[in-house]
Amino acid sequence: MNNPRFKYPDTKAYNFVVQRLQDRGVNLDDLAQIVYDTQKKFEPELTLEFCQTALVDALHKRELLNNAMVALELDRLTQEGKVEEPLASIIKNDVGVFGVDETLALQIANIYGTIGTTNFGFFDREKNGIIARFDRDGIHVNTFIDDLLAAIVAAVCGKIAHQYA
Ligand code: MG
Repeated sequence: MNNPRFKYPDTKAYNFVVQRLQDRGVNLDDLAQIVYDTQKKFEPELTLEFCQTALVDALHKRELLNNAMVALELDRLTQEGKVEEPLASIIKNDVGVFGVDETLALQIANIYGTIGTTNFGFFDREKNGIIARFDRDGIHVNTFIDDLLAAIVAAVCGKIAHQYA
């Protein structure tokens, strides 16, 4: 039941996502660096500080926070054995026909327009910087986090591209 008096916990959601990323070994600076390295080819005056600010702005958007929390929690719950079969095995084995990880991520990639879709495809393939670590790690459940990181970086690149257009 929808409770009209519930106030969306913006700060808690932001802190949750940033903290969980940190617990998983991802610092915001790692993500800002990927954005900078990618976008400086197109915008020579771009600075790393500008990318860091754009990233923090994007991370305050509810559309991003909602999907990020669901993605991060599904990896954790699966890792801890709290998801039932057959879903648990589907997630653990990062099955190609699953696609929910990509769907959640694409909504994030698109928050600054459809340019994010193209960017997401690029980062999903290239596995830049910190994203590559999750692609190679065979011990933890990383089915959602790798797409999530690619999507966040893609969204911020889209935001910057629009600002410079
Ligand atoms: Mg995935």
